[in-house]
Amino acid sequence: MLKCSLCVHDERTAKIDIVNGNPLCRECQVYLKHPIDREKIRRELEELMREVDKAILAYSGGKDSVVALYLAKEVYKVPEIEAVMIEHGLMAREAVENARRIAEHLGVPFTLLEYDYSDIFREALLKGQSPCRACSKRTLGKLRKYALRKGYKYIITGHELPFGHHPYRLMSGGVVQIRLLAMMSEKERFEILKRLPFEFPELPGYTTNCLVLGPALERYWEKNGHSFEQRRIAALVRYGLMSRERAEKELRKPKVPEWQKKIVFERLRLTQLH
Ligand SMILES: [Zn+2]
Repeated sequence: MLKCSLCVHDERTAKIDIVNGNPLCRECQVYLKHPIDREKIRRELEELMREVDKAILAYSGGKDSVVALYLAKEVYKVPEIEAVMIEHGLMAREAVENARRIAEHLGVPFTLLEYDYSDIFREALLKGQSPCRACSKRTLGKLRKYALRKGYKYIITGHELPFGHHPYRLMSGGVVQIRLLAMMSEKERFEILKRLPFEFPELPGYTTNCLVLGPALERYWEKNGHSFEQRRIAALVRYGLMSRERAEKELRKPKVPEWQKKIVFERLRLTQLH
């Protein structure tokens, strides 16, 4: 099976051609023609952050949003910032604890909004699909409404920049989403985490906060023989933000502990799927 020589796609997950003697996936071919200018993106972020006087931080209690909160408060010194966490019903307990502890440590007001995303999770598990896009879309929508209600113009998120060329996005109502971790490497994130009272929960999948991801990945694996995170993680490797070794580890079939499956299936009122 051909494997892309630049990222971690293979013939199961992407179309691969031989270019100058090397296997290269279509996404890497596009990237090599139109490379992303990392310095330019970081400069754009610096400029944008200078204008931000009042912002919500989209806080999930996962490692990336924790790093984003640290940067917003300590590096960019945003004068007024509120960490808003949306608990979708199946967050790891440790994530809420990490969120609260770190907001307190940094002296940032913390708001927890609780919702029930069971409909999204149940459908994803039953169909063997990824819940991530629908979940993240709903969360950003809720945060946008919260921002408008409380007079915030900016929502800072811990998203990276897997696709696209700008670290910000204009949402309806004039709210601007800032992807503060755009083009920041895994290594840089871990360096920041070391300075904070962050405790790593033991969860399968590329997550430090969500209980659904592991079982959803497992289901998807059983159906498709690979991870639904392949495309996003391939982009991180392509841009040099994650090592190939780490990526391959993240893309293996997860081993989801029974206790975790039990919580997820019971909460979603699903009987075991296999
Ligand atoms: Zn590739």
